[in-house]
Amino acid sequence: MSWLERAIDDPAPAAHAGYSGLHIAPEVDAALKSGAVVHSAAGLWSPPGYKPSDLMRSRGNSWDATIMVNGDVWRHRPRPTFVNWHAGGPAQNVPLCGFETEGTGPWTAAQKASLVRVLTETWAYFGWQRFVKAAPTDKTQDGIRQAILAAGKGCAYEHNWLDYTSCPGGRDDWGWLVPAAKAALEEEMTPAELFAQLKKDKDFASYLTLIEQLRRAQGTLEAQLGAHVGDAAKHAGGGVSEERVAEIIRELVAD
Ligand SMILES: [Zn+2]
Repeated sequence: MSWLERAIDDPAPAAHAGYSGLHIAPEVDAALKSGAVVHSAAGLWSPPGYKPSDLMRSRGNSWDATIMVNGDVWRHRPRPTFVNWHAGGPAQNVPLCGFETEGTGPWTAAQKASLVRVLTETWAYFGWQRFVKAAPTDKTQDGIRQAILAAGKGCAYEHNWLDYTSCPGGRDDWGWLVPAAKAALEEEMTPAELFAQLKKDKDFASYLTLIEQLRRAQGTLEAQLGAHVGDAAKHAGGGVSEERVAEIIRELVAD
């Protein structure tokens, strides 16, 4: 099954996965995965000179994918089934995927859209039907194991709910993310609902107005050209063919 196929590939260091001392392989069965951690990078990358995988190399960590401020998604593993080192110990790193969000301020609109796409594709990969905002844990390995089990499949965390970390929380806009992810996962929008949603967007509304203007202009042109063709037909051998008229109209209304 595919996962984040439209992303930019930036492989994480192969050695930064699994726990050999605990006999946990770099990649585990999909059944062992339960959810995800949304991290904040608290800074910017500058590819190609400085990529997420460069930070993984210097910090000795790894994660599944990065969502850049411009909305680009960087994929660090071919599948979301690796045991990456992003959220503390194995109790969280085995069951939870890790997603980094670039930048320090509020998520950009492009970043929000891509984050929902990454979550939706990941949830689809594992067949999770629900999106659950998890809660802070007691940060012990046993406590985390039990909390993740209790939260069930499809749970999402901030890093500092699982670990004593400087990874900043609060930037993760759960008030927005939870309904957005739920809508993407749980609700199939009908075309009418989608259209109603799109009409609220200013750019889309002006686009609709433009189409309506073009439609009217097309009607006027057809009438005028039709009259012209009629005139031309009166003069033997002269004038514009109907095919040419159709072609002119097509050129005029083409975007
Ligand atoms: Zn983090």
